[in-house]
Amino acid sequence: MKKTKKELGIVDLLNSSAKNIKSRHGQDVVFRGDWIINSKIRVCIKTKKGLLIIGFLWIRRNCFAWQSIKCNKRWNYNYADVTPTEIVDIVTKKIEAALIRFQIIGGKEQVGTKIVAPIVQAEGIRLHLSDDVLARIGKHVHTRPDLECGGYLIGRLQWSEDGQYVTGYVEDIFHDDSVGSAAQYTFTAPYGLKAYSYCLKNYSNEDGVFSKNIIGNYHSHGGFNAFFSPTDRTMIFSGTAAEFYLVFSPGRKEVTALFKNKAQKLFAIHLKQKSGSEFRYCEPTIPHVDIDYTKRGEA
Ligand SMILES: [Zn+2]
Repeated sequence: MKKTKKELGIVDLLNSSAKNIKSRHGQDVVFRGDWIINSKIRVCIKTKKGLLIIGFLWIRRNCFAWQSIKCNKRWNYNYADVTPTEIVDIVTKKIEAALIRFQIIGGKEQVGTKIVAPIVQAEGIRLHLSDDVLARIGKHVHTRPDLECGGYLIGRLQWSEDGQYVTGYVEDIFHDDSVGSAAQYTFTAPYGLKAYSYCLKNYSNEDGVFSKNIIGNYHSHGGFNAFFSPTDRTMIFSGTAAEFYLVFSPGRKEVTALFKNKAQKLFAIHLKQKSGSEFRYCEPTIPHVDIDYTKRGEA
């Protein structure tokens, strides 16, 4: 498909406008737009470890859209409402927001707000784990039961009509061989991207519509209890998507679960005890400490 001048102009502008962005470590962040299919542009940034996809841009006749990978949200704009310069401006801002979310650059989004969200008990929030998924998570966390590890929950979220209640269906998981220490595991941005790529390859069609996607994550606490630590809380609030979080303890045979909605409110969720499961459900508790979650990586 031949690109029009307008389309090429946007890619060129994109490729030249981000050169002044500095990473947290002072390096230049270079971003690149590549056409992948027809009107879809993949926006990547160059990191030490290679190219990292941060989002997709659709350029169509009447509108354009930006989809962020990290929060899996899509914004649509009509050309009738914006000028070409404004388009580049909007996209640059979206890319910057994505870089902040990936913690590649620092940003205002995270400054000055303390997130101390209480946990709310909610009846209408449920999570279904298939026997197969439970067995696979069990196998994963037992690979190195002395060390922490983590993976992604893949499936669907089904919301009630009023948007109040949600049921999560975990139908698949994604994990690699990475392990942390005895008391720490970090979900990195490249790991999240790998999980996203897995969903893209297996559960999305050509229009970028997903039948299943990442709906949360799980991690192991090795020999320690299943609970949400301050570090876990930092991880939970590092993204803005509505997600489920599970902590498994292979040592104590426990599992605990939380759900965070888009308003960044935490809910204790009920996991139905599965017969034959080695993991006993325990109510989530978070140590009530007042930590400034805006200082990333220091908690
Ligand atoms: Zn943890």
